[in-house]
Amino acid sequence: MNKAKKLYLETFGCQMNVSDSEKIVTLMKGIGYQQTADPVEADLVLLNTCSIRATAEQRVYGHLGKFKSMKKHKPGLIIGVGGCVAQQEGERLLKKAPFVNLVFGTHNLHLLQKMVSGAEQGKQSIATDFLDDEKRFDLFPHAESEGGVSRFVTVMQGCDNFCAYCIVPHVRGREISRSADKVLEEVGALASAGVTEVTLLGQNVNSYGFNDPGAPDFADLLRMVARVEGIERLRFTTSHPKDISPRLIACFAEIGKLAPHIHLPAQSGSDAVLKQMNRGYTRAQYLDKVRALREACPEIQFTGDMIVGFPGEDEACFEQTMELIEEVRYADLFSFIYSARPGTKAAEFPDEVRRAEKQARLERLQAAQKKITLARNESFVGSVQRVLVEGPSSTGDALFGRTGGNRATVMNGDPALAGRLVEVRITQGLQTLLKGEVLDV
Ligand code: SAM
Ligand code: SF4
Repeated sequence: MNKAKKLYLETFGCQMNVSDSEKIVTLMKGIGYQQTADPVEADLVLLNTCSIRATAEQRVYGHLGKFKSMKKHKPGLIIGVGGCVAQQEGERLLKKAPFVNLVFGTHNLHLLQKMVSGAEQGKQSIATDFLDDEKRFDLFPHAESEGGVSRFVTVMQGCDNFCAYCIVPHVRGREISRSADKVLEEVGALASAGVTEVTLLGQNVNSYGFNDPGAPDFADLLRMVARVEGIERLRFTTSHPKDISPRLIACFAEIGKLAPHIHLPAQSGSDAVLKQMNRGYTRAQYLDKVRALREACPEIQFTGDMIVGFPGEDEACFEQTMELIEEVRYADLFSFIYSARPGTKAAEFPDEVRRAEKQARLERLQAAQKKITLARNESFVGSVQRVLVEGPSSTGDALFGRTGGNRATVMNGDPALAGRLVEVRITQGLQTLLKGEVLDV
């Protein structure tokens, strides 16, 4: 009997890449590759890459160096690079790293089986064409559905917003929504396989259906997905503040299955910086949306993204960002130092904030947010939260799950509760998680 071929897959970056990697595993299984966590065992190494910041991109080249050495001892090893760096670099990547066998862009997963089979025959290949057609969502089988409690379902891809700092529209292409029928088909299949929670995924899900005026919008889609039998909880990410409509806000009041959490990146608290970033809203408009969401759903938890050191951000602008986080009181915040990306508008702006100053601002922001996160987590003590049990905790002696507000929670209980929504009394609020006890089920 032939020994199964082994795939070692590394994923960098956002949830879109995590979701693409699930699809890659299914595709590679279709041509006989089983996933391994040990690169030494691998016959095929695939890197699903991210280029959102320069550091993410550099990390990919660092990793490739490691696999180049491995290939010296194992010449038949196939190395492939996909995702955003592959899209951005294309031919350049093969010039910089000629030992790479295949380069596949963000729209080319459907070609991957053929490319890997070609590499087995010694062929080097590259595919980075954009496929601006809705069909591209369903050109290959979806990720396998067994075993999961919570799964991502892609509803749209690409982005038309062109925020001045962002490479996403350049590497993921124009915004395209997937048809509601196809989304419902996939959600239905996941529900039949025992999945309890789905997260609808896109770069900017709020603009779902915008390019097709007669089609359902995102609020319609949420209502349709919530009706799928077996799906107990529904989430979505990511939202652009400018596209949060009153109809979408109403969903938080009216759809019982919609988790009370929204990731709503502000990026800055300063109107001057927001304008330079081309975000399409002011600080006051952002805060109005936050207020309206809290009115519709008082228990809603906010998370967000913030960039510090954007060109033109002076101390007064940064103070406005510090004030914004105190006003919103995010449950969690992802914050980054601005990184100039090739081809973006902001890469042409004079970058006058000193590196040390950017670092100092990031540290101040993160220290302030740490306090807010801890205070928020402590505020849950004594409350009863509905937690979706995902499985055993990392230590193995308890259960792990998430509250509706997306707070990580560790609790005692029977492992057979995996996949169930249970009531948990919160007994401790720590920096990164809540602890609690499962109430009678
Ligand atoms: N589509 C989402 C949105 O609009 O919020 C997320 C895009 S990106 C994958 C995630 C985050 O990376 C952004 O929200 C932003 O804070 C950060 N980011 C994007 N480009 C950046 C850059 N050039 N430098 C630093 N951070 C960046
Ligand atoms: Fe990037 Fe802005 Fe599009 Fe988000 S909305 S992906 S930050 S361009």
